Amino acid sequence: MTRPALAAALLLVLGCAGVHPYHPNFYSVDGDIRLGQQLQKEVESEVTLLRLSALTQLVNSIGQRLQESAPDPAFKLFPYSFRVVDSPEVNAFALPGGPIYINSALIELCDTEDQLASVIGHEMGHVAARHATEMLTTQNLTQLALIAAVSVIPVPVPPIAWEGTKLGYVLGLLRYSRGKEAEADHLGLELMNAAGYDPNEMAVVFGRLAEQQHSLPSVVERFFSSHPLSENRMRDAERRAAALPRPPNAPVATARSSTFSEVNLMFAKD
Ligand SMILES: [Zn+2]
Repeated sequence: MTRPALAAALLLVLGCAGVHPYHPNFYSVDGDIRLGQQLQKEVESEVTLLRLSALTQLVNSIGQRLQESAPDPAFKLFPYSFRVVDSPEVNAFALPGGPIYINSALIELCDTEDQLASVIGHEMGHVAARHATEMLTTQNLTQLALIAAVSVIPVPVPPIAWEGTKLGYVLGLLRYSRGKEAEADHLGLELMNAAGYDPNEMAVVFGRLAEQQHSLPSVVERFFSSHPLSENRMRDAERRAAALPRPPNAPVATARSSTFSEVNLMFAKD
């Protein structure tokens, strides 16, 4: 095989899907989905989900709208699901292959549906860019790889020695570099823009999170450990949002504010 042909073959093997096809990834799209399903079982054995609430409906409708308008075909590869975790901790996270979790306290922190869309869009960006399996490919995350093996090899695998809670453990493994965080922001901004949400609201959410870090640091500690936030990141989100061309046929936002305010009223009643 000639050198260019070999390089082309390697690229095909290493990364055949996702928003950046030239990053090495030894997992297939199906591998991402199976790993996510396995982690989902572990995570959901520990958290309390708000299954039938207006919050869950709201988060689902935003997620579906973002996915339907996604400009990049990589977003259509994954069966996204959106769940609300009943928790006073401000946090959100995505498992590989599609499951996305938003804590109720983070929804409460958002003033508008556009702000919540920025959080969901960011997490969808991690999934579409396949950041978790990229990390598995390039770093020695033995424990996460063992969980992955459970879902692809049909033989019994020794149980994993979880350190601490399963949720804390999984989130500890899914710590992304600044580069991956920036990429998830960029993808989220593009998703928001294409779906007719205001991408400028992402930087507003960052500002609110930074305020929380000053006033109630313990509430946002886990969020900041998996999504490091810097002045640079906030300025970058502002700059990129301002530079995005508004799509000519973006969906008109009908009844969005009323839906969101109904949900906010639920918090007021608590
Ligand atoms: Zn992130």
